[in-house]
Amino acid sequence: MINFHTVGVKEFIEKVKTNEIDLEDYYHELFVVLKKVDAKIHAFLNFTEGEAERKLREIKNKIKLNKPLGALAGVPVAVKDNICMRGVKTTCASKILENYISPYDATVIEKLYTSDAVIVGKTNLDEFAMGSSTENSAFCITRNPWDNELSRVPGGSSGGSAAIVASGLIPLALGSDTGGSIRQPASFCGVVGMKPTYGRVSRYGLVAFASSLDQIGPFGIRIYDTALLLETISGYDERDSTSVNLPVPPYSKLLSDKVYDDAKNIKLGLPREYFIEGLEKEVRDKIMAAVNILAKIGAKIEEISLPHTEYALAAYYIIAPSEASANLARYDGVKYGYRAREEDLDLLQTYMATRGKGLGTEVKRRIMLGTYALSAGYYEAYYDKACRVRNLIKQDFDKAFEKVDVILTPTSPTTAFRIGEKIEDPLTMYLSDIFTISCNLAGIPGMNICCGFDEKGLPVGLQILGKAFEEETILKIGYIYEQETKWYQKIPPTVE
Ligand code: GLN
Repeated sequence: MINFHTVGVKEFIEKVKTNEIDLEDYYHELFVVLKKVDAKIHAFLNFTEGEAERKLREIKNKIKLNKPLGALAGVPVAVKDNICMRGVKTTCASKILENYISPYDATVIEKLYTSDAVIVGKTNLDEFAMGSSTENSAFCITRNPWDNELSRVPGGSSGGSAAIVASGLIPLALGSDTGGSIRQPASFCGVVGMKPTYGRVSRYGLVAFASSLDQIGPFGIRIYDTALLLETISGYDERDSTSVNLPVPPYSKLLSDKVYDDAKNIKLGLPREYFIEGLEKEVRDKIMAAVNILAKIGAKIEEISLPHTEYALAAYYIIAPSEASANLARYDGVKYGYRAREEDLDLLQTYMATRGKGLGTEVKRRIMLGTYALSAGYYEAYYDKACRVRNLIKQDFDKAFEKVDVILTPTSPTTAFRIGEKIEDPLTMYLSDIFTISCNLAGIPGMNICCGFDEKGLPVGLQILGKAFEEETILKIGYIYEQETKWYQKIPPTVE
C-alpha cells in the first residue's frame, strides 16, 4: 500500500497519468486498509465508497477518451463532516443531524470533483466544530496515531482529518478553522494544516458555526501537496457574499529552489506575548530550533509585540458563541434533522425536547453563552465590546506586518494531551487555542508545520502567520523549512 509519507502527491499523479498505478486496484486495497486502520483511530464517520466509485469511472472514461485529467487526478481526499456533499450524510458529529443527507455540494466539493480528486469519506469532528480534542463528537473519539497506546487526542475540532492524513494512507483532507480547528489538530498530528485568509475559500456548503471566523482549509503531509489543494479550493464564489474576488496564485508552482533567494532577506517576527508561562519547554525549544534553521538560510529575525494578545481568548469566547447561538437556531426539529416525537408535545415543547436531546453539552453551553451575550441590555457590554477588542487585535497585526513579512509562533502550548484530561474543564480546554485564535479574529492566514517530536514521540507544531491574501509567503517559508528538515518522512508507530 502506498504511504504518502514516502510518496508525494506529485509523484502519485504522474503514476496515475502513466498508468503505473491502476486506480481500480489501488482503491480496492485502499478501502480495505483504511477500514483496518480506522478501526483503531476512528478518524471517519462515514466512508463514501459509492461516490469514489462514480468518480473513478469518470476518470477511467477520461483516460479512455484521451481527455485531460484535473490537477488532483485520482488523489484520495477526506472531508470533515461539516462540509456538505450531495447525497451523503453531513452530521457535524451531532445527533441532531445524525440522519441528515445534504441535497447539494459545497463549493469546495465541486472544485475537488472538477480537479478529479476522489473523496473517500467524511471525518470526525467536535460537534459543530466546537472543541479542541474531537472528544465532543456525538459518535466516537478519534485517537492520535502518534501515541503507541492510542490514548491521546488528535486535537480538534478537525481531529479526524488530521489523524487520517497523519497515517499517510490519505495525503490530503479538508477541515474548517474558526479558532484553530485546522492548525491545532495539524500540530498534534504532525501534519501541515492551513487556515487561509478569511474570504479566500468559499464557505458555501460549510455548516456555519461562527460565520465571521469560519474558513475551510487544507491538510497535507507536505507543503507542496497542501499548496495544490489550497489552489484547488480557493477563489471567488458568488454564492458566498464574504468570498473575495482576487486572483488565486498558482501556489504549488511557486515552490521550487528559487524560494531560497526570496527568503534571503525575509523578515520573521517572534511575538513576545506568545512565549509565555504555560508553554511547554520542549515546545519552546523546538520552535527556537526551527527559527535558527530559518535564520541560517538568511532570514532576519526580529522580536515584535502583539500587545492585545491577552484579550483574544475572551473576545473569541464572546463572538464565536454569539454567532453560534444565532446559526444553530435553525435546528428546531421542524426544518430538518432530528425531531423529538413524543406524544402530546406542543410546539415549544417539541423545540425544547429536540434541542435538549439532539445537542451535546458543549454546544448547549455555547448557545447559552451566546444568547446571553446578545440579549438586550448585555449586547453593548459583551458582544459590542468583544468586537472592539477584535479590532485592536487586527490593528496589532497590521502594525506588526509593517515591520515583518511573517510571524512565527508555537501552534499550541503543549503536544497532544490524553483523552479525558481536559474534557471536564472547559476553561482549560479553551486555553488549547490561545495561539491560534487571534489569526481568525484578524482574518489573516496561518499554517501549522511539524517542527520535530517531543520525548514521548509526539509532534510539535510551528505556526506561521502571514499578511491577508499572502498565503504564498507562508507556504514558501514552510517549504524551505521542510526541505531542511523533512520531518514528514516519519510514519506514526500505530500505522506502520
Ligand atoms: N477550539 C475552538 C473552539 O472550540 C476552535 C474551534 C474551531 O476552530 N472550529 O471554538
